[in-house]
Amino acid sequence: MEILEAPYDEVVGYMKARYGKGAFHASALVREVMVHGNPRFWEAKAFSEAPSLASALSEEVCFAPPGVEETVRREGVVKVLHRLSDGLAVESVVIPMKGYATLCVSTQVGCRMGCRFCRTGRMGLHRNLTAAEITGQLWNARFVLKAPIRNVVFMGMGEPLDNLENVVRAIRVMTDGRGFSIGPRRITVSTVGLAHKISSLADAGTGVRLALSLNASDDAVRSDLMPVNRRYPLAALKDSLAALAGHSGIRDGVLLEYVLIRGLNDRGEDISRLADFARGVSATVNLIPFNPSGEETSFEPPSDAEVNAFHDRLVAEGIHVRRRWSQGEDLLAACGQLGEKACPHKSR
Ligand code: SF4
Repeated sequence: MEILEAPYDEVVGYMKARYGKGAFHASALVREVMVHGNPRFWEAKAFSEAPSLASALSEEVCFAPPGVEETVRREGVVKVLHRLSDGLAVESVVIPMKGYATLCVSTQVGCRMGCRFCRTGRMGLHRNLTAAEITGQLWNARFVLKAPIRNVVFMGMGEPLDNLENVVRAIRVMTDGRGFSIGPRRITVSTVGLAHKISSLADAGTGVRLALSLNASDDAVRSDLMPVNRRYPLAALKDSLAALAGHSGIRDGVLLEYVLIRGLNDRGEDISRLADFARGVSATVNLIPFNPSGEETSFEPPSDAEVNAFHDRLVAEGIHVRRRWSQGEDLLAACGQLGEKACPHKSR
């Protein structure tokens, strides 16, 4: 058993089947690894009176988070390079907030979605991460970097819904109150729009939040930016999001992430189409001005006045819009979207 990818009920089942032990010892094992961050979990007090059990646990329970190879700090944001057992690497990002931190995790090595603006997309897909490699990024952030992680966003390398089974398993491990104890409403899964997998995520019943990287209000522009749109155009996406209404498997409605690019998706007609889309799926829109961050790009950022005008007209349409983010959130908002340079984990 790899402890980092075992939801609590599996740990209980394993302890019973393998050692004839119950919830007391299962809880102790989970607590030692995921609350105390102790890689030598078999030395916990709970096992001190059962040396043969401690010895068996040390040999039979696998605990192998990715290695932290490098950390790079920029404006308080820490980019972490995790080396995987097969030599491949992924990155996560720790973003400081007021009194806590948010962790942006990767779900795949590379990605096959091919978004035009994304360097990870240009790598193609190398492989999915296991659930342990996903939760291992959280373990590293909390216990190697000592970061007070309260929120987790699935916005790093890869498309989370393209690795749904492992993502759901990782969420189950992260949210268990006996272990990492990250509340489901503090977890956001961001997708580029794999419409057929959105309902599967909801049906998994994890109760996390969902964000959709929208970035365009019409199929022509969106298909150009994000090839996934050719397979799942906006109408299909809208249908799958609308079907989530009242579904308890997804929390608090959907967040539509919309990176504003001058002349491309900030036109007058974009406002009414975006408003229609958001209204139809009861979503909040998060407006993010494109940030070229010095990269050579054909995209242009809008001016503050243009962003404000877009915002105000959207609000006038009755849409709930988020606009002002902290610096950390601004960096985070670019994860998995437009601006590989703005997101530290996409800058390699
Ligand atoms: S933006 Fe996200 S989904 Fe698109 S290619 Fe990059 S990693 Fe994949």
